[in-house]
Amino acid sequence: MTGTTWRDDVARDLIKNVGPRMELFVRGEGAHMWDAEGRRYLDFLAGIAVNSLGHAHPVFVEAVTAQAATLAHVSNYFATPPQLALAARLKRLAGTGETGRVYFANSGAEANEAAFKLARLHGGAERPRILALHGAFHGRTMGTLALTGKPAMRAPFEPMPAGVEHLESTIEALEAAMGDDVAAVFVEPIKGEAGVVDLPVGYLEAARELTTRHGALLIVDEIQTGAGRTGAWFGFQPSGITPDAITVAKGIGGGFPVGALITFGAASDLFYPGTHGSTFGGNPLAAAVAVAVLGEIEASDLPANATLRGAQIRQAVAELGSPLVAGTSGRGLLIGVQLTAPVANDVVAAAQERGLIVNAANESTIRIAPPLNIGDTEIAEFQPLFAESLAAVAALSPEVSA
Ligand SMILES: *Cc1c(COP(=O)(O)O)cnc(C)c1O
Repeated sequence: MTGTTWRDDVARDLIKNVGPRMELFVRGEGAHMWDAEGRRYLDFLAGIAVNSLGHAHPVFVEAVTAQAATLAHVSNYFATPPQLALAARLKRLAGTGETGRVYFANSGAEANEAAFKLARLHGGAERPRILALHGAFHGRTMGTLALTGKPAMRAPFEPMPAGVEHLESTIEALEAAMGDDVAAVFVEPIKGEAGVVDLPVGYLEAARELTTRHGALLIVDEIQTGAGRTGAWFGFQPSGITPDAITVAKGIGGGFPVGALITFGAASDLFYPGTHGSTFGGNPLAAAVAVAVLGEIEASDLPANATLRGAQIRQAVAELGSPLVAGTSGRGLLIGVQLTAPVANDVVAAAQERGLIVNAANESTIRIAPPLNIGDTEIAEFQPLFAESLAAVAALSPEVSA
C-alpha cells in the first residue's frame, strides 16, 4: 500500500507513539544526509549521538558487510570471536581492570533494564530503594521508565516497578536520601534528554563516597555520554571515580543497534546463570560493528576531536551574539544551546528549512551532537545556517529584544 505522500504512509501505517516525522531521509554520507527530493542537510544530531563516525563511514560499511558474510547470529548458547573482542575492548576503555564483566543488549533501555536487575540482585529484601534524578532519562521500558525522572512519561503506565525515588540533582539531596536500605543510585554524567544539563561540580565524587559508605551500587548511565562524545571515553572518567557499573549504547555501534552493561569489581558477580538474557544481545554482527567503530574512534583519537570541535562550536555560537542564546552546556560534542525563550522547536524547524539538523532537547534547549569526526568544514557550514535560523526565530519572537 502506498499513499499519495510519505506523510500519508506515516499517518496510516505507523503506531502513533511519536508525533509526525519531520523529514524522509534516503541517504547519508559523513555529516550529511539527503531527503527524497535530493536536498542535502548537515546532520548535527547524528541520530541522537548515535552515528559517531557519521553516515556510511567505510569502517562501518566494511564491518557490517564482512561480518554479515561471515557469521551474523548464533544465540547465547555459543560464544563468538567478535563478542569476546568487544567485551575485552569495553573493559579496557571503561577501565574495569581484570574483574570487570560485560552483558550485551541491543539498546540503551535494555542495558538499563539489566542494570535495574543488577541493582535488585544487590539489594535483595534489605535494600528496596533505588535513587535516580529528577529529569533523568533512562529509557521507555517499564523498568527504565520507573528510573526515568519525568512524571508525564510515567503517568499513563502506572503502576511502575516499585522502589524508585527521584531526587533533586544536588549533593545535599543525595546525602539526605541515602541510607542502608538503598540498593543503587542511577545517574547520567550529563542529563542529555533533560536538556544537556550538567551535574553540579563534585556530584559524582560525592555519589561515590555516599554509595560506598552505605553499601549501595553507583550505576552511571553512559548511553548518551559514552563512546568518546564528551571528550573522554566515558563521561564519568574525568571525575576519577570507579563506578560499580555503567551502561552504554547509542554511539558504541555507530548506527548499529547494540547496548551493554559493564560491571566493575564485586558487582561483576551478581548475575548468575538463568538470571537474565537476550536472544540478539552480543550477536557477532552487532559486536563486530561495535569493535570496528570503537577501533576507529580510538585510532583517529576522536575523543580529543570531540573536545576540540566542541570548543569551536561553542565559540561559533557565542560569536553570533544572538539575543536568543543565553549560553551553552554539556561537554565535548554533546552541547546544549540554552535559549532565552521557549522557542527551541521553532529554531529546529527554521534550521531544517535551511538544511541543518539539530534537535530541541526541551522547549528552550537546542541539542547539538554531530558525528565525532567533524572538522573545520562542517563547523564553517554550521555557523551561518545556525545564525540564520536563530535570526529568523528572533525576528518573530516578541519575548526576545534584539
Ligand atoms: C537514549 C538513552 C537511553 C535509552 O536508550 P534506547 O536505545 O533509546 O533504549 C537511556 N539513557 C540515556 C541517558 C539515553 O540517552
